[in-house]
Amino acid sequence: MKNKYYILPELPYEYNALEPIISQELLTIHHDRHHQGYVNGANNILQALDNARSKGIDLDLKSTLKALSFNIGGHLLHSLFWPSLTSTEQASNEPSGELREVINREFGSFEQFKKEFTQVAASVEGSGWAALSYCLQTDRPIIMQIEKHNTNVYPQFRILLVIDVWEHAYYLDYKNARGKFIEHFWNIVNWNHVNTRLTQLLNS
Ligand code: MN
Repeated sequence: MKNKYYILPELPYEYNALEPIISQELLTIHHDRHHQGYVNGANNILQALDNARSKGIDLDLKSTLKALSFNIGGHLLHSLFWPSLTSTEQASNEPSGELREVINREFGSFEQFKKEFTQVAASVEGSGWAALSYCLQTDRPIIMQIEKHNTNVYPQFRILLVIDVWEHAYYLDYKNARGKFIEHFWNIVNWNHVNTRLTQLLNS
């Protein structure tokens, strides 16, 4: 079997679908250049590994694998981010179904969850993400603050919802006002998709 590589997924909507929250220009650069960059970065490293193995060359595995996890993390988190969003017309303000129950059970209310998630996203030092994940061992949703693309991730926790708070995710539209971007992000969350991710996990 031929070695496989990563592929940039298409956006599940048009490039202007998230306006005015995320401009067409920002979304195009973010998807076509930044996300593509992580896909290319991961593939280049996989090719370097393939090449080194076939020629018997020793790579510095410590730094190679660190760069690989950075790029794969970037690719996978962006792949989760795009379908977590939808146009303001399509978005509902609050989660429904099982997701709503799970959030209420853990956080007491949707407002409390929103407050905590906002705080986690706002306080990422430098570049990173906030993610709502789910732990099957305790049946608890847990918020993760992911540094860069790849640290503070709990293995095996299924990620349900993410927000990208790297500057490239908002600077063009919001300048340095990350807080404003996070505030507006709540208007374009695709709660149906997030709920589906949870129910698929619980029924798997
Ligand atoms: Mn990004």
